[in-house]
Amino acid sequence: MLIDSHAHLDSERYAEDRAEMLSRAWQAGVGAVLAIGIGEGPAEMHQALEVCREFNGRPDTPRLYASAGIYPHNTPEADEAALAKLDSLLAEPEVIACGEIGLDYYHEGAPHAVQLEVLARQLEIAAARKRPILIHCRPQDGAPEGTPGAWDDLFAILEERWRPTGIGGIMHCFSGTYEQAQQSMDLGFLLSFAGNLTFPKAQPMRDVAARLPLDRILVETDAPYLAPVPNRGKRNEPSFMGNTARTLAGLLDVSEEEIASATTKNFLRLFSLSPDVGNW
Ligand SMILES: [Zn+2]
Repeated sequence: MLIDSHAHLDSERYAEDRAEMLSRAWQAGVGAVLAIGIGEGPAEMHQALEVCREFNGRPDTPRLYASAGIYPHNTPEADEAALAKLDSLLAEPEVIACGEIGLDYYHEGAPHAVQLEVLARQLEIAAARKRPILIHCRPQDGAPEGTPGAWDDLFAILEERWRPTGIGGIMHCFSGTYEQAQQSMDLGFLLSFAGNLTFPKAQPMRDVAARLPLDRILVETDAPYLAPVPNRGKRNEPSFMGNTARTLAGLLDVSEEEIASATTKNFLRLFSLSPDVGNW
């Protein structure tokens, strides 16, 4: 049984078949899914929680959890009302994480200073609610030598404002270097791998994954994005996660069962959930 640590289940791309999509996940061995509550902006931050409440308790459906957070490119919309909404969502028992939050210097979007300021505010809110954070970090391609990149800025802020909390979190869709992986683990983070681990050009990512300890990794879909081979290019969904888990098993030279049990244990440990958390 697998846990999908990151899926945008509230995406309107599931509007027609969300129940079927979730039962396909269940059939494929996915026992729990963390639904990411960012929507298309703070106005939709509550949607993941709504999906949880709608589907939890149904037979043949994974157990669902939710997060809430303000995505880097939505940070200009993070007014006091949005931050208050985030705080009240994090008080809900199903909302076990704050995210995905972080820094995106790849796309032309929110100014870096705004991203940093809103990240700092969200760290404060998550710390007060004792919720682990889900980090999105995407550096700019080919940034000039010497300019501080997204990872430098991220580690600086986490070092100062998150390490002291001891709460930890997840580096979602991890694609950094081995050094960045080590620094993340040192800060108490798990590293979650998505379907892009299976892409032909992702050899550097696979080389990093192959060196990681079993007790620090997770798998995710980031659905509806990043469908793994052989479904690349299609709408992704949690039932497609098997190939990512298999790829990770091959890299770490363990069985698929071992990857499933290690990633499940890691997820339960981070969120202090009991082993009967999934629908299995
Ligand atoms: Zn995501």
